[in-house]
Amino acid sequence: MIIILKKDPEQKQLENLKAWLASQQLSIHESRGDSHTILGLVGDTSAVDIDLLRALDIVEDVKRVQEPYKNANRKFHEEDTIIPVGDTQIGGDIFTMIAGPCSIESEEQICQVAMAVKRSGATMLRGGAFKPRTSPYAFQGLRGEGLQMLLAAHRLTGLPVVTEIMDLSQLDLFRDVDVIQVGARNMQNFELLKELGRSGKPILLKRGLASTLQELLMSAEYVMAGGNQNVVLCERGIRTFETAARNTLDLSAVPLLKKMSHLPIVIDPSHATGIASVVKPMALAAAACGADGLMIEVHNDPSHALSDGAQSLTPEAFTDVMAAVQAVLPLACRYRNGKVV
Ligand code: PEP
Ligand code: MN
Repeated sequence: MIIILKKDPEQKQLENLKAWLASQQLSIHESRGDSHTILGLVGDTSAVDIDLLRALDIVEDVKRVQEPYKNANRKFHEEDTIIPVGDTQIGGDIFTMIAGPCSIESEEQICQVAMAVKRSGATMLRGGAFKPRTSPYAFQGLRGEGLQMLLAAHRLTGLPVVTEIMDLSQLDLFRDVDVIQVGARNMQNFELLKELGRSGKPILLKRGLASTLQELLMSAEYVMAGGNQNVVLCERGIRTFETAARNTLDLSAVPLLKKMSHLPIVIDPSHATGIASVVKPMALAAAACGADGLMIEVHNDPSHALSDGAQSLTPEAFTDVMAAVQAVLPLACRYRNGKVV
């Protein structure tokens, strides 16, 4: 349920209303917009008398929210969420470019790639230390040591770093990481999401291989219900009957999620396609349809990469994609508060 307040509500009445709502075991999510303030209510609202609320002086309107996601819902929070990360941000007027290798392979490799993507204009560095591989015999990542190498690349370039957590037991190692990624395979690891909800760190939440947008938002809700509102949604392709590409990139997720939620949306054309030559066209399409950013795999020597070489761009190819994306951005579809402007 949401309560839309009249402009400049009388403070005492507002406090009384909030105290009464809290006494009904409802948690209140207050969102102050330009035109009005919204109180989003989470909990069992079935006993709340809507007409009584509507009759209050300070209340303009009351609406029930049918969707099971509340904190992530655009109705709860009209304005687009902007997440500060280091000297930059995700969402708002900045287009985020996260680039780097699938896996961190050595300090030299991650530092080389970090310097190259920074020169090309990347705003954040990615690199996996804990790798969710389909085969237990494939390279599993350099784990804690890999994280140290990623942090060395951060110190060298100043780029904020994004890296994937696979299990709660790893959380202590992520203290200096700027953005914690939850991979597609862990999108519904609810215990992990609950703990990340208590962490306060920005979370990049990837859509599950066969998850609906509503399920993605319910996973975001797990993090937000724990008090962490800093969630970035990431579309990275879903399983369909098509086998020509690794996955099928669902770009309609961008306008749909913009409507459903206030959270920023990043597109990963690398995992969505699995093919380096297909990354650029999909990156341009993602930028054009109004995504808040891209996450692209870049490797200094893709043919010898320990994981995902086939979809990794060379630093030169990334420079080319970056320039092409910059050219598209002025023409890109823009949203403000969920609507195309
Ligand atoms: C990754 O980004 O390295 C990754 C494993 O992605 P996904 O979870 O989307 O497969
Ligand atoms: Mn990868």
